[in-house]
Amino acid sequence: MFCYQCEQTKGGTGCTTVGICGKNEDIASLQDNLIYTLKGLSAYVYHSNELGVNDKEIDEFIPEALYATLTNSNFDLNDFVAMNLRAGEMTLKAMKMLKEAHFKKYGIPTPVQVQTGTKAGAGILVTGHSLKALEELLKQTEGTGVNVYTHSEMLPAHGYPELKKYKHLVGNLGKAWFDQKKLWSDNEMVLIAFGNCVLIPKEAYKDRLYCLGIAGVPEAKKINGFDFSEAIAHAKRLKPLSETKGDVVLTTGFSSNVVLSLADKIKEAVTSGKIKHFFLVGGCDAPGKGGEYFREFVQNAPKDTIILTLACGKYRFNDLDLGDIDGIPRLIDLGQCNDAIEAVNIAVALAELFECEVNDLPLTLVLSWMEQKAVAILMSLFHLGIKGIYLGPKPPAWITPNVFKVLQDNFDLRLTGDAKEDMAVMLG
Ligand code: SF4
Repeated sequence: MFCYQCEQTKGGTGCTTVGICGKNEDIASLQDNLIYTLKGLSAYVYHSNELGVNDKEIDEFIPEALYATLTNSNFDLNDFVAMNLRAGEMTLKAMKMLKEAHFKKYGIPTPVQVQTGTKAGAGILVTGHSLKALEELLKQTEGTGVNVYTHSEMLPAHGYPELKKYKHLVGNLGKAWFDQKKLWSDNEMVLIAFGNCVLIPKEAYKDRLYCLGIAGVPEAKKINGFDFSEAIAHAKRLKPLSETKGDVVLTTGFSSNVVLSLADKIKEAVTSGKIKHFFLVGGCDAPGKGGEYFREFVQNAPKDTIILTLACGKYRFNDLDLGDIDGIPRLIDLGQCNDAIEAVNIAVALAELFECEVNDLPLTLVLSWMEQKAVAILMSLFHLGIKGIYLGPKPPAWITPNVFKVLQDNFDLRLTGDAKEDMAVMLG
């Protein structure tokens, strides 16, 4: 544990084993987990608010949960276990709220192929998660000759009818968030961060970087009120991009509606043995070799398996052509991290289709985590009682052995190990 939130902190620097207040490392672990879950939950609430929707129950829960972590408020382990699961429930509700707002405003996404090269002319590259910000940018750039490109978690935007109708939304550049320093140095275009997943910029592009909303880095210009005029004018002043062909064409834009429109085919393929197992392999990607697990896992998935994916963890393998099973794509990109709600909807619908519980489906969740939104999603899956989730590439550092044991005992939580060995266990 590490806590220095009050004046009584040990040695004036921090309590690391037990607090003078009596807080032990397991309570500290659960409090930290709760706060991190609230951070993730807040991201989804924030983006819902951008679209004009909110939820009273969520809005009341967040301060209540934060208040419980104030010094000398609550030392009950059981209370914090329940509060973490309730935070998962609220995350589920927030993801549903955000998804419904996306559907209502931008239509239901359909599969689309996205180019990964550049078009000749001026360009703006956007990263983050806000579809609202992208919509405003597309409106303001229409007819200006400035093309708009997505990066990382903005890729799924291409699937929404009310966004893809803009012909100058031309492609996606790069992969997960952490390639931005090289990608953004190499591409002479204006860059706009719509929220989290922005890094402190390199000298090479800091004068071309704009931040909106909660995003901010030293020396980047701030965009207020969705007014992109300065960024658009800046893009026009830069040397025009040349026409380049990307290495790969990416497919995104699946929704639960699209997948469940194939329900009859899926049932037939499962019944006849053509589909043996479903995997949800997704989450947020992180730099380092640990993430190679997820590519190796997907590469070794037998041809009679389907991979559902979402969030930027998919960039570890979304260049692979996995083909299809009787017209059912083997690699199905459901969207951003908050679109985990769509994976839940599909799992629940499959359980109804096969008249069983979600935990009895031939379905395994293999999740990568990097930051606090993934923690919030994990809590939402625990709230639903989903068991046997594999989590990697490393366990969260704030989870103590006792708390991890609670998660193992109650939810059969497992850590990723060797991709081939894990696959063999999952397939029985
Ligand atoms: S709240 Fe407790 S654990 Fe935290 S700094 Fe104060 S005495 Fe230490």
